[in-house]
Amino acid sequence: MRICSAIKKLITRDTRYENESAKMPVLMRILSLTLTGFFLINAVAFFIHGTLPAVYGNLVLAVLYFCVFLLSYRINKIATVWLFIIVTTIWAMTLLWFFGPDSSFQIFPPFVIIIFFFASYNCFLMKVIFGFITFIVYQGMSFLYGNRTPLLELTPGAHHCVRDSCMFIIILCTCIAAHMFSKDSQNMERKLIEYNKRLKTRANTDPLTGLNNRGMAMEYLQDFVRKADSMICCLCICDIDHFKRVNDSYGHDIGDLVLKSVAKALKDTIGDSGFVARWGGEEFFIAFPDCNGDEAMEILYHVQKAIRKTEVTVGEETVKVTLTYGLTEYDKGKSLDDNIKDADNNLYLGKERGRNTIVF
Ligand code: GH3
Ligand code: MG
Ligand code: MG
Repeated sequence: MRICSAIKKLITRDTRYENESAKMPVLMRILSLTLTGFFLINAVAFFIHGTLPAVYGNLVLAVLYFCVFLLSYRINKIATVWLFIIVTTIWAMTLLWFFGPDSSFQIFPPFVIIIFFFASYNCFLMKVIFGFITFIVYQGMSFLYGNRTPLLELTPGAHHCVRDSCMFIIILCTCIAAHMFSKDSQNMERKLIEYNKRLKTRANTDPLTGLNNRGMAMEYLQDFVRKADSMICCLCICDIDHFKRVNDSYGHDIGDLVLKSVAKALKDTIGDSGFVARWGGEEFFIAFPDCNGDEAMEILYHVQKAIRKTEVTVGEETVKVTLTYGLTEYDKGKSLDDNIKDADNNLYLGKERGRNTIVF
């Protein structure tokens, strides 16, 4: 356990360069150590197999990757990456030279390009140029060594072992690199999405009542207008009667409690049959999509009943309020503003008629 944490501490040690993050050097250290281990195992396997040139080749590559590992603590990030890419290209060349083109040689260019893309903050053009140069280098190697007889003639089984083990280790290294570089951005993206959702909810919600605010109502109405073109819809604006008296008699805090309980009654009663928002002050806005005037009236009767049951207790007293409702059926021939005005006019008519009423 202690050894594991010591190795982890060693690998994740910060870079000496103040303006560099340790992420890329850490990746280089992980990959270099993995490949050092891979080549040492390979050297042992070839030793048992009795193929001495391959043993030397693997030992040289193990030493080279270990040097990259050690140098990653001394030199800067981009130099480490270049060294890693050069050693990897030497590996690819050795593979081609020793075992011929059917030795997973083709998997190297994408791996090298991925490492360069992750390491480099250069502009896209530079990356494309690097990709193109990699293509040329690997094509050149293929041209030089591809048609020659491989240095080592292995049995088909041993040849498959070499090819598949190289393929496996390169895929493993690609996965490690891709995971390290996608992990952070994906976490960041997830956090941003959640943060945006919270921001949007906060921006669209009235903090006191928890209802949609007027901005959200206007956003909703854009969609509502489209719906109202193909179905009968209704709009309603309602206002608490003599609310000023509640504030004057019991204080602003009690007024707030009344607003909250009225909002809750509206929300609970209307539920999915409409859209409720706090329009401003003690005014609320209700939209009824796919509802004609009579159906909306029916729902508003239920709302009235719910409001009648709603009360706020202040000491010995209970505070009850009523609402006046201005309802209108959406008229496609008029603008949205004029439709809202119609609902508003009905509300004022209700106030004039003595309040606690629905005017349609
Ligand atoms: P009417 O029946 O004609 O609507 O009378 P009203 O007293 O309800 O109307 P008025 O417009 O005279 O007063 C509205 C009051 O609502 C005044 C304002 O202080 C109060 N009000 C607006 N927003 C809030 C709020 O967020 N909290 C509290 N407690 N009061 C609010
Ligand atoms: Mg009022
Ligand atoms: Mg008002």
